[in-house]
Amino acid sequence: MGSKRVIYLGGLPIGGNNPISVQSMLRSSLDNLKNCIDESIRLLEAGCEVIRVALVSEAQLSNLVRLKREINAPLVADTHFRPSLASKALLGGADGVRINPGNMRDKEALKELARIARDENKVVRVGVNLGSLPENVREFYKDDALAMVNVAMETIRLLEEEGCENIKVSLKASDVLTTIRAYELASTLVEYPLHLGITEAGPVFEGSIKSAVGLGILLYKGIGDTIRVSLTGDALKEVEVAYEILRALGLRKRGIDIISCPRCGRCEIDIERIVDEIKSKAKGLRKNLKIAIMGCVVNGPGEAKDADIGIAGGKGKGVIFKKGKIVEIVKESELVNRFLKLLKEVDSGEDE
Ligand code: SF4
Repeated sequence: MGSKRVIYLGGLPIGGNNPISVQSMLRSSLDNLKNCIDESIRLLEAGCEVIRVALVSEAQLSNLVRLKREINAPLVADTHFRPSLASKALLGGADGVRINPGNMRDKEALKELARIARDENKVVRVGVNLGSLPENVREFYKDDALAMVNVAMETIRLLEEEGCENIKVSLKASDVLTTIRAYELASTLVEYPLHLGITEAGPVFEGSIKSAVGLGILLYKGIGDTIRVSLTGDALKEVEVAYEILRALGLRKRGIDIISCPRCGRCEIDIERIVDEIKSKAKGLRKNLKIAIMGCVVNGPGEAKDADIGIAGGKGKGVIFKKGKIVEIVKESELVNRFLKLLKEVDSGEDE
């Protein structure tokens, strides 16, 4: 479903019926250009479609420009406090900026930013964070979701008055339910694409669950056009988790889809090791294949009938199956290698 309006961020269409795009934010500082380039390339290779980087000073503008030139992908400068710095980022080559209405109170400078975005055809994300809303605003609305939406609407109107309509909106809180309510309300009022995220969601495990619940509920309702899974740790994890959320909802596919059984008393192989090994080695495939790694032959192939190929464990051996049918029985020590060989054949079409 998505937003009513479609915008273009450095050529990437966002909103409407376009695929939900995946974003992440660099851990590297723009003070170190090489780190930013290397991290961006790793993220882009993993499927990240929009790179956001913190821009904290004028001194970093030259590296922002060089980063854009090097990565050739949609680049968003994340700015706080000074709209004038955001304006310079747009003029310097960023495809978009994220502004924080909670700490950008200079209306004239915001208007100037809006005119630049309009003239340069760049995107402004109105990125409200509950944590940076002034206390008096939160007290006035007495409802954090309402406060975030109203602050966003006020800024959207200001941008529109200057003719800027390349707008994205985000309303992030670390509390999942507040975030859901804010986006639900915004989706009834805002025609622009919504960028979803649970801010400061936490370490990888906790943050992934919070994000899956929060973003999953919204996306299932057709709310949201881009997502960022915010995690403490390597940014690559954010991209991986984002695609798993989208895959679970049937919205995007990328890489292999692994089905593996939880194991029970029937299992006689080291299924955890086998899953880890296959997961780490089965990279760079062309097709979006579904694989199954099951603990036993009693139920394994049957339970995973819709997988392209799979493994089912036995005592000191395992069977390899394709579309639920057993094709080979091999020793446990050879299971992973034989499976990976077949996986590559299926991926390249050699098995047909
Ligand atoms: S596939 Fe076999 S080992 Fe795995 S959970 Fe099912 S019955 Fe147990």
